Amino acid sequence: MRRWPGWIVGWALLTTCWLAAAAPDTLAEDALLAQITRRAYDAPEAMLAELQQRWPAQAHHGQPREAAWLLARGRILLQAGQADAAEAIAEQLMSLPDGAGASWLLRALALERAGKPAAPLAQRALTEFDKRCPPGDERRAVREMGCDFRGAWEALRLQQREQYAQGAFALAESSSRRSLALARGGEDKHLAAISLGMLAVALQSQDKIDAARAELRAAETEAAGDLVAGARVRNYEGAIERRARDMAAARSAFEAGLLLAEQADAPHLAAVLRSNLVDSYMHQGMLKEALAAGQRALPVLQRFGDRFYERSLHHNLAVAHIKLRQFEQARLELMRVSEFGVDPSDFVLRARELRELADTWAEAGQFKEALTALHAERELTDRANERNRAAALEELGRKYDSAAKQRDLDLLARDGQLKDQQLANQQLAQKVGFAVGALLLLSLGLVVVTLVRMRRAQARLTANQRLLRAQSERDPLTDLSNRRHFLAVMDQRTREQPDEGFEGALMMIDIDHFKNINDWHGHAAGDAVIVEVARRIRAAVRESDLVVRWGGEEFLVFSPALPGEDLALMADRVLRGIGGETIDTPAGPLRVTASIGFASFPLGGAAGAELRLHWEQAVNWADMVLYKAKAEGRNRGVGITAVEAPNADMLASLLQDFDGACLNGQVQLRQLPGPT
Ligand code: GH3
Ligand code: MG
Ligand code: MG
Repeated sequence: MRRWPGWIVGWALLTTCWLAAAAPDTLAEDALLAQITRRAYDAPEAMLAELQQRWPAQAHHGQPREAAWLLARGRILLQAGQADAAEAIAEQLMSLPDGAGASWLLRALALERAGKPAAPLAQRALTEFDKRCPPGDERRAVREMGCDFRGAWEALRLQQREQYAQGAFALAESSSRRSLALARGGEDKHLAAISLGMLAVALQSQDKIDAARAELRAAETEAAGDLVAGARVRNYEGAIERRARDMAAARSAFEAGLLLAEQADAPHLAAVLRSNLVDSYMHQGMLKEALAAGQRALPVLQRFGDRFYERSLHHNLAVAHIKLRQFEQARLELMRVSEFGVDPSDFVLRARELRELADTWAEAGQFKEALTALHAERELTDRANERNRAAALEELGRKYDSAAKQRDLDLLARDGQLKDQQLANQQLAQKVGFAVGALLLLSLGLVVVTLVRMRRAQARLTANQRLLRAQSERDPLTDLSNRRHFLAVMDQRTREQPDEGFEGALMMIDIDHFKNINDWHGHAAGDAVIVEVARRIRAAVRESDLVVRWGGEEFLVFSPALPGEDLALMADRVLRGIGGETIDTPAGPLRVTASIGFASFPLGGAAGAELRLHWEQAVNWADMVLYKAKAEGRNRGVGITAVEAPNADMLASLLQDFDGACLNGQVQLRQLPGPT
């Protein structure tokens, strides 16, 4: 006799409960929607029909439950590959009073499915959901405040996934801990099991193997009786064992997961597990089994439009073919892989794959191909490093050296331009000289005419000189002062007071995730954002402050005399000025936020008279706290409130190990949250 799949049993139970209740309460209805949405991963078409059939009156247009049901429909449409229909629903959701979170979430999920970075939109969704789900007492938030914990959970999952792909494992860990708290608050064991699985993966990636295994066991307990959750937990287990290089354990975890997925009648999930099995079989030398599993998984993944796993499967198949010395087939698979392109959010994963490929080609004696893969991996790793803020923090010391060099180069280039223009001026001056010579030779009648000419040439000369200085010290896009002007101001101050050291307040401002704006909305929108941010900064500071366009989307504010408390107020005004309201661009209104590092010099307050810094070091301090603000999640200001150092040399050495100095209290910081 055929066993009823677990999900059908659960399904029937849930449906009965739901129908039995005369006025189903929202929580039970949400659980039903979650069940349908979850099931859509493996049966999207059937669930679309199911949802349509159950659509209740209180979810009709203008009714209180409309947003929840629309979100479910949108998510199922995505699973069914109907991205346009889902986008239409996202728009509809945006117009509903409580639909913004759901709308951003749906858009983020669409990006994920298209293989594009979804975290920024997931963050917007989370910001909306968090209004009703403040961290702390999730249970109460779910019961009393209408917290959509599943929406928030899903947004966190997207963030966690991208953090993981970028190698930000500690962040991924904290995201999964929060998602676990939400799942527990909503008493959703399925989600709790998955959160625990994700947490285990994040822990293992930080080499906390025992902690990872403990969370896995907790995940298994939560998943008991839920076949799909059980299969997913096994999938995490397999991934963890594979990274721990226990290939036999990985294989048996994936096989156990596959068994559960098949019992649950979940073809999509089964194909995912099979595609992971390909890798395990390969590493155990079971090449025929690897190819067979891959060939079974491929058409299913294609049918479900699962680009992520399809790509990784082609990669695994390529490796298997190389090992079997079927080089032609391997190249075919690799061509399929390259058709998918590389997204920045996949850099880390892709680099790992390329390294594996290089090794496999080399083992097969195909050194030319190995080298090509190795070069591709290098290039990707470079690009990944560029993006990786954590790495940037580590490399800060080196960065300052090269930044200073870059600054000198920029100045040299500017100087070159200046010299050209000076030459032109000299020629002009020569003309004036000739005119004067001619004047002496010519008769009185001509004197008048020549005088007029001379005056014109002189006027042109002065105008040119003025323009020259103005142009070389202004940024043409924002009309703010540029770095050169700031340097000129600093030079002058140093000349006037050579022994004083730098005095005043600095605020370094950097627009968050600005590259995404260029990437998604075009350079023109990026330019419009820069211009408007410049205007908002100008409006938030005092007339007498110097606002400088420091680099692409970085600004520096210099206040010659400003007490620490006023500086924090000003930083707060700038944060709010930039992030408070959307910015109109050719691509429509965009919301941007910025991160700020600020500090008042001399450091160390009244006792800091001996701690004089050169202005360049002061800029380095502001830059350092800006990186802190970035590392702590962006959309915030971080300022220096106190510094303890016996002399200027020791003060400079604090920058070498800034985190350490913060931890042991030598440097004290204050945090300003940005607008939400
Ligand atoms: P984060 O917030 O973490 O600093 O990320 P980000 O993307 O803002 O930082 P990143 O420094 O990686 O990107 C800055 C981008 O700004 C890269 C460059 O292409 C772009 N950019 C620099 N100058 C201009 C400009 O004048 N106009 C436009 N549209 N883009 C610019
Ligand atoms: Mg930036
Ligand atoms: Mg920047």
